[in-house]
Amino acid sequence: MMKRAVVLLSGGVDSATTLAIARAEGYESYALSFDYGQRHTRELESARRVAAALGAKEHLILTLDLRAIGGSALTADIPVPKGRSAEEIGRGIPVTYVPARNTIFLSHALAWAEVLGAAEIFFGANVLDASGYPDCRREYVDAFERMANLATKAGVEGTSRYKIHTPLIQMTKAEIVKRGRALGVDFGLTWSCYEPGGDHRACGRCDSCLLRKKGFAEAGLTDPLPYQN
Ligand SMILES: [Zn+2]
Repeated sequence: MMKRAVVLLSGGVDSATTLAIARAEGYESYALSFDYGQRHTRELESARRVAAALGAKEHLILTLDLRAIGGSALTADIPVPKGRSAEEIGRGIPVTYVPARNTIFLSHALAWAEVLGAAEIFFGANVLDASGYPDCRREYVDAFERMANLATKAGVEGTSRYKIHTPLIQMTKAEIVKRGRALGVDFGLTWSCYEPGGDHRACGRCDSCLLRKKGFAEAGLTDPLPYQN
């Protein structure tokens, strides 16, 4: 039987590349996405297409209303920053940080992994060319991994030794784009924009769009997504 892995899949460049890496490493992938009250559900459509294109065995979309908690530009009526420089993006924790989001997501991934008998969780966290989110750092992931082995029946009884894989954590966006391309990711299926326009095209100016565009430019590749203007 193939080894199973749960892969967090937002539908963006990083999670799509992470899913492709899990596949290349021979895992049977169970993709997990969240309809958490984000500003738009366009990324979930991308997650569905990416999961299908990269051969996920199952794709589960869980509904969690993080909008009831709010506290982020993605889940409350707080403006999404636009047109920031790379230096500004790299400084501090922006308002697009969603309180404890990756802990919430990884906890659900862990629960599903325990049920599936999967010991591996893949998570496309990245600290370089990223937005300075505290729950994307490896020390955070290491702490979650320790917690996972203390928190579960499978961990305590020793039937699973949980491991959180973060294959992109030290890669630049350009390196991620190149790796994904080499593994056959169709980036035309992915989505990154925090706040698309009414015409459903990416805004091109939010931090996520800017990091994506910078990554493709530095990789010398063309981004297949249409942008406004
Ligand atoms: Zn955008």
